[in-house]
Amino acid sequence: MGDTGSSLMPFRPPQHLPAGYQTAHARKRAHDRERGTTAQRGYGSRWQREARRYLQQHPTCACEECRGLIVPRPAQVVDHVIAHKGDPALFWNPANWQAMAKLCHDRKTVREDGGLGHPTPPTLAEKGT
Ligand SMILES: [Zn+2]
Repeated sequence: MGDTGSSLMPFRPPQHLPAGYQTAHARKRAHDRERGTTAQRGYGSRWQREARRYLQQHPTCACEECRGLIVPRPAQVVDHVIAHKGDPALFWNPANWQAMAKLCHDRKTVREDGGLGHPTPPTLAEKGT
């Protein structure tokens, strides 16, 4: 009795950082995460509800390609015809919505990102040749 304690004593927790640093850092990260999810959830739950109702009224994809199909793809997502870019007026205006199949929506998103969001630098490669 009493001997066993001495083998445990030498270890002391490392303290590389000032105590305040880690908590402030962790707090900021938690805050960012929380802000992100609450915004998404607050925004998202209403949007989920509205989108679901819209899809019940517009059960098939409204994209150009599907409109030409005899059997259109079933719509799974509600797309904004004009990119809302965070503008609530565009975001919540049903006139700016269209039902789309996920597949078609993803394709449209890629096209828009490539064309508008990140325009490809013109003819950089051509200059080299
Ligand atoms: Zn489609």
